[in-house]
Amino acid sequence: MISANKAHLRSWLEVPAGSDFPLQNLPFGMGHVPVCGLRALSRIGDQAINLAALAEWGYLKGTGIPGPDIFRQETLNPFISLGKPVWSKVRERLLEIFSEDNAELRDHSGARARCLVPVDVVTMAMPVQVGDYTDFYASIDHATNVGKMFRDPEHALLPNWKHLPVGYHGRSSSIVVSGAGIHRPNGQRKPPDEPLPVFGPSTLLDFELEVGFIVGRQTAMGETIPVNRAEQDIFGLVLFNDLSARDIQSWEYVPLGPFLAKNFGSVISPWVVTLEALQPFRVPGPRQDPPVLPYLRHEQPGNFDIRLEVYLQPEGSVPSRICSSNFRHMYWSMAQMLAHHTVNGCNMRVGDLLASGTISGPEPDSYGSMLELSWRGTRPLKLADGQERRFLEDMDQVIMKGYAEMDGLRIGFGECRTTLLPSKSWT
Ligand code: CA
Repeated sequence: MISANKAHLRSWLEVPAGSDFPLQNLPFGMGHVPVCGLRALSRIGDQAINLAALAEWGYLKGTGIPGPDIFRQETLNPFISLGKPVWSKVRERLLEIFSEDNAELRDHSGARARCLVPVDVVTMAMPVQVGDYTDFYASIDHATNVGKMFRDPEHALLPNWKHLPVGYHGRSSSIVVSGAGIHRPNGQRKPPDEPLPVFGPSTLLDFELEVGFIVGRQTAMGETIPVNRAEQDIFGLVLFNDLSARDIQSWEYVPLGPFLAKNFGSVISPWVVTLEALQPFRVPGPRQDPPVLPYLRHEQPGNFDIRLEVYLQPEGSVPSRICSSNFRHMYWSMAQMLAHHTVNGCNMRVGDLLASGTISGPEPDSYGSMLELSWRGTRPLKLADGQERRFLEDMDQVIMKGYAEMDGLRIGFGECRTTLLPSKSWT
């Protein structure tokens, strides 16, 4: 485990100032490497580390991996299935090999040339095969804002909200990796002043700023994951843009919840950042009042101080930062989400994705969706180039960034980029 006292460690690889990927990060991902093909990777600075090549050259002996082929699969799932002791050992070994005073790879130019690839020639791919995807609603500021807008400003939170992390089952087939283009969905919406619904492209297309975490251990049906050991079953975290069509949503969601407004595309960042890397940034969450039931009670602080930003970039223009939020604002922690999800015996599988729900903070510029930033379209956002936005327009790019920073140590996620494409004709 990397603690704050390892913040001084440096790599013999160059790490540009402001990089999200110092030696202490060592995230995992999948990418297409020229000549080699699809490979499991890690990253330091602007260099991707080809884990299959590293294993071939014998640098990962003693970590518990069965051989280099574990890093030549379609996704990280087979590697994750080896268990936390193995991923932790691989990460610790990477930390050792790439520390500035370690010469074993640094001074071996033949191996170095095979194991390192500039990230700009790598095309990143989906890091995991997501079996099931669950979306929570765990930010108190987001839930309060939505409650104020659509229900009762005096009683914005529903009676269950502070007693359990509210969630719903999403769809995994439409989760894609950063860089994807997502078409504006067609669907039914009911204009408020018309008696009947109409069909066509959504006119209220939105992003949702979320953090997702990837489950690292298969559980059996009937098994529950206790809250105080739930983090052991988390492989790592990603940024997550859970696109939403607000007009389709408001018409369809009664009484069973979101359906086609939410399942046409969600985008994740390609590098999975581990909890070990984020350990120095652990912080207490907000006080939970009323007290939660015993099965949701934590012993250690379960939140993480991760700054989150959203930029909107119209076609041919410059990006404007439209949101600065923080993962520390979550009312419910990841451990509570996982404990709650399994308390009824629901089984988890390696690669399952659990997402936080929109992460809003208390300030108006920290709201994690256009719905809240423009307050249901009533307060248009002014962009740097003078354009205005209430919701997303075709060819807009949404760029999410996330990083934790303290005492000169910065652990980041890179970016999660989505381009909104025009709707497809339905005739
Ligand atoms: Ca969501």
